[in-house]
Amino acid sequence: MDAPVKPATQVATVKLLIGGEFVESKTSEWRDVINPATQQVLARVPFATPAEVDAAVASAQQAFKTWKKTSIGARARIFLKLQQLIRENMGELAALLTAEQGKTLPDAEGDVFRGLEVVEHAASIGNLQLGELANNVAGGVDTYTLLQPLGVCAGITPFNFPAMIPLWMFPMAIATGNTFVLKPSEQDPMVTMRLVELAMEAGVPPGVLNVVHGGEQVVNAICDHKDIKAISFVGSTKVGTHVYNRATLAGKRAQCMMGAKNHCIVLPDANKEQTLNALAGASFGAAGQRCMALSVAVLVGEARNWIPDLVAKAKTLKVSGGTEKGTDVGPLVSCAARDRVTSLIERGVADGATLELDGRNPHVPGYEQGNFVGPTVFSGVKPGMSIYDQEIFGPVLCLAEAETLDDAIELINSNPNGNGTAIFTQSGAAARKFQEEIDVGQVGINVPIPVPVPLFSFSGSRASKLGDLGPYGKQVILFYTQTKTITARWFDDSTTSHGVNTTISL
Ligand code: NAD
Repeated sequence: MDAPVKPATQVATVKLLIGGEFVESKTSEWRDVINPATQQVLARVPFATPAEVDAAVASAQQAFKTWKKTSIGARARIFLKLQQLIRENMGELAALLTAEQGKTLPDAEGDVFRGLEVVEHAASIGNLQLGELANNVAGGVDTYTLLQPLGVCAGITPFNFPAMIPLWMFPMAIATGNTFVLKPSEQDPMVTMRLVELAMEAGVPPGVLNVVHGGEQVVNAICDHKDIKAISFVGSTKVGTHVYNRATLAGKRAQCMMGAKNHCIVLPDANKEQTLNALAGASFGAAGQRCMALSVAVLVGEARNWIPDLVAKAKTLKVSGGTEKGTDVGPLVSCAARDRVTSLIERGVADGATLELDGRNPHVPGYEQGNFVGPTVFSGVKPGMSIYDQEIFGPVLCLAEAETLDDAIELINSNPNGNGTAIFTQSGAAARKFQEEIDVGQVGINVPIPVPVPLFSFSGSRASKLGDLGPYGKQVILFYTQTKTITARWFDDSTTSHGVNTTISL
């Protein structure tokens, strides 16, 4: 993380949201929000003070007293309204997102839309937060469960999906009856704040949703805070592991979705054109800055001959500013991110991989200051090379080779990460073997980026996740609620007394 800087007066400041008010932080630490295609400073974001974090949590704590008793219908209607407002403001949201994050406008709309789907799901909370009941578990005894909200919950989000990931979190947390403190990425907080404004306009009451900005210190304050019950984190493995350890040590529930190294397998019977399109889109789209980006393709058997066609396909992609029509690959989020990706490409060459296509230092007319790296392809990539062992988080596709499907599955299962994977084949038997034997949480069959819709939960596994329940979908209802199990017997005048019972039976 870059060091915060002092604010200049002329640039707009990003506000905190505390107790229903958008307020200016009193901090002395600020950081620029920068357009990665032009280096224009768009705004300045504060690193909130400890007192501001405390105030946000206190306001959420206070609001919980009434919000937890709010009817299901009242909660659901807020999210019905919010989904409408997001649709009405889609163009503005996408433009804001592209300006501060860099991805193309159509992809920015996709980012907002995948979050909108979760808002729609939150509107059906009445069907989701249902308990269970068993009648007559003993004579005249019923057992049933209540799924009750926990209290103040918090969310910490990464830069790469500044609309979708905050929308994974606060709608479901609030719909289940909790109050929330959100800590957006300090790199691109503006679209997140616009969504938060829309949520307030949709009727979220003061204190139910609060926002603090910042970095390590604010995150640590959230992990340690005695009044926060649960934390949902999405970001890198290093920070997520720290958050999980610190938050659970403080007695909180935590779910941490973390880094990845997503492999796909290409079998020679796959539909070649569809597969090459899928590989190029999933490796280079969003400049490779997706946790579900395909970063390693394992070519099996004759599919090894497809490398020239894949490189030719990658060369057709247009690298430019995200607002330019027809752009496929926008800039990386920061100069630091670009320098890191560039140095990993250098390491790949030094480690002996074959650089089939070099995307370093592309000429991008009109965007000479942008953080661009073009599509880059390495072949002959093996475990032990830095470009294989590290998450590059840039538009770099590593090609590995395997003799058989079994060998390819073994390679993927040997990698510590378990976020996403895919197979490309026309063979149902091969696809089923893959689905059964692969040890990765999200599996695509001829689908390169298998991020589940909100009827299901995001389900990364192994080193890509800590905590057992995923965000959104069915699993998150359990994450954001405490199951209370009631065992009840009612007497009427005709109930026979059997005297004192000193056994465990009901
Ligand atoms: P990051 O870990 O740097 O930042 C995530 C959050 O943690 C931010 O809000 C940031 O302010 C905070 N943070 C940063 N450094 C911190 C520190 N030292 N201590 C405490 N908090 C700190 O991640 P990023 O660069 O914003 O996002 C990219 C990463 O997120 C990639 O690794 C990507 O794979 C991962 N990601 C995972 C998923 C998933 O669902 N598995 C989804 C999106 C992104």
